[in-house]
Amino acid sequence: ALLGEIRNEIAFALDFMEKEEQVRTLSLAVEQSSDWILITDKDGRIKYANKAVEKATGYSIEELIGKTPRIFSSGKHPRRFYRRLWETILSGRAFRAVFINRRKDGSIVYVDQTITPLKDKEGNVIGFVSTGKDITQEKELRDRLKYVAFYDPVTELPNRNHFMERLSFSISRTRATRRYLALLLIDIDRFKMVNDTYGYSAGDQLLREIAERIRGAIREGDTIGRIGSDEFGVILFDLAKKEDVSKVVNKIFAAMEEPFLVEGDEMRLSISVGVSIFPQDSDDAEGLITKAEIALSHSKGVTGNTCRFFEEEMNTRMTEFVLLEKHLTKALDKGELDLFLQPYFELSSGKVAGMEGLLRWISEDLGVVSPARFISVLESTGLIEEVGEWVLKRACEVAVSLKKRVSVNVSPVQFKDRDFPDKVKRIIEECGVDGGFITLEITESMAMEDVDFTRSSLEQMKEMGVKVAIDDFGTGYSSLAYLKTLPVDYLKIDVSFVRDIDRDPEDRAIVNAIIQLAKNLGIETIAEGIESEKHVEILREMGCDYGQGYHLAKPMPYDQIRSFLGL
Ligand code: C2E
Ligand code: MG
Ligand code: MG
Repeated sequence: ALLGEIRNEIAFALDFMEKEEQVRTLSLAVEQSSDWILITDKDGRIKYANKAVEKATGYSIEELIGKTPRIFSSGKHPRRFYRRLWETILSGRAFRAVFINRRKDGSIVYVDQTITPLKDKEGNVIGFVSTGKDITQEKELRDRLKYVAFYDPVTELPNRNHFMERLSFSISRTRATRRYLALLLIDIDRFKMVNDTYGYSAGDQLLREIAERIRGAIREGDTIGRIGSDEFGVILFDLAKKEDVSKVVNKIFAAMEEPFLVEGDEMRLSISVGVSIFPQDSDDAEGLITKAEIALSHSKGVTGNTCRFFEEEMNTRMTEFVLLEKHLTKALDKGELDLFLQPYFELSSGKVAGMEGLLRWISEDLGVVSPARFISVLESTGLIEEVGEWVLKRACEVAVSLKKRVSVNVSPVQFKDRDFPDKVKRIIEECGVDGGFITLEITESMAMEDVDFTRSSLEQMKEMGVKVAIDDFGTGYSSLAYLKTLPVDYLKIDVSFVRDIDRDPEDRAIVNAIIQLAKNLGIETIAEGIESEKHVEILREMGCDYGQGYHLAKPMPYDQIRSFLGL
């Protein structure tokens, strides 16, 4: 029996030693675990914290013992978060959440924590164990990925996808109200030039500055996003009147006035804006974007800060555009384009002084189509280059065979091309025409867009003896100071001033002023759109040099002009 007792004692001792060993192993495991383990008593005072807690929070264990976990509070959780925590654990259940904690150094650490009540044998809560994992790195990585997916890294604005989400959200919030929402698409004119000249980092810098200025012009609740390489989108939210949009657009324009600094150079930039409005233009985000893009495309052609609101009629024009584009490509192949010629006359003698080449499209399907309708299609499809060269060649041939001066209308797209003077030179040489027989007509707004460029381009072409006319004079905003510095031979007074010259004293005064101005600058004047003998008399009286118009002669094909000239 004694032996049995001894055996029991030994077994007990062995068992005890094993338990002790187990406990020691366990405590080492807890201590060194990469997971966070923290134990408090039932009042929440910290009794134990392992190395992982030290590492995650920056506090040493000695600093933590006796404190409550409130020491980690970052203030980022709402009150009800803690209420839920206590409710759960006091009722004996475990609580799990990502805690946003503050480290000793003030920085934020995210801990995925589970807090479990610790109970004695009778089931009384005697403390709490918090186990968890520091997930700060994963969290930051996730945030970063989310950021990259939703934001443009250059301007830190919402990217196109995120912008569209916000737009949909704003629309759904507006739907319930009687208020309006406006979508602005803002395109930076000539931005490509900045990138090409100064490089991408300067371009990025400029984008940030522009974004900043736009943001300054809109309200706090409005959204701005970068939705294309040089395109911003703005959502104007909660508008009472549609008219409010214009006010905001003007504020944005004003913000663009101040020159930008790019690599030490002062630079002026203008923007084009297209606007669509919910609910009148479309009911959803996609529709609003499409309509604003159409409005923007109408705004882009014009120089300076411009804004266009979407109109239904733009849609019609858009459809027409697509139709024309389809037919035009065929027209070139089929040779349906012709250069009509309209003579202009010396008003003092009544003699033919020259003629203007005017493009005509005699379409099998559409009849005779006016250049006013299709030039813009040629321009935006790039076809103008080919057609423009053809027109110039044809004009040279006509000048040679009729021994008359011929004027050629130059598109802004052609004129902006740095190689244009060389092309003109080549064609003139190939045709063997005296340069003095060719007049290039550029419009006033084209000439004034970049005066230095215009001057150098015109001067190169003048070397071949060609003449230069400013077309549609009076419809743009020319600066007289600049006009003086350009090598111009003729001003063509726009038809809109000539039309009512016999009835409207104001138009008469304007035309008179243009003629006198031109005389002072040694430039000759050509009046367009003369439709009556009365027009001729008034203009001759004012000292206008030449006249062109249906009353004198209509544009006609080559064969007809030969007989008109008696050849
Ligand atoms: P533009 O250069 O100002 O040409 C004058 C326009 O006035 C021509 O219209 C001409 O037919 C019209 N016109 C002439 N006399 C009268 C008149 O007595 N009354 C009225 N109401 N109009 C008159 P068109 O031929 O339809 O050309 C329109 C515009 O298309 C031209 O304006 C020019 O800007 C452009 N265009 C014409 N041909 C070419 C071309 O070969 N190349 C380029 N780039 N543009 C061209
Ligand atoms: Mg013209
Ligand atoms: Mg004109």
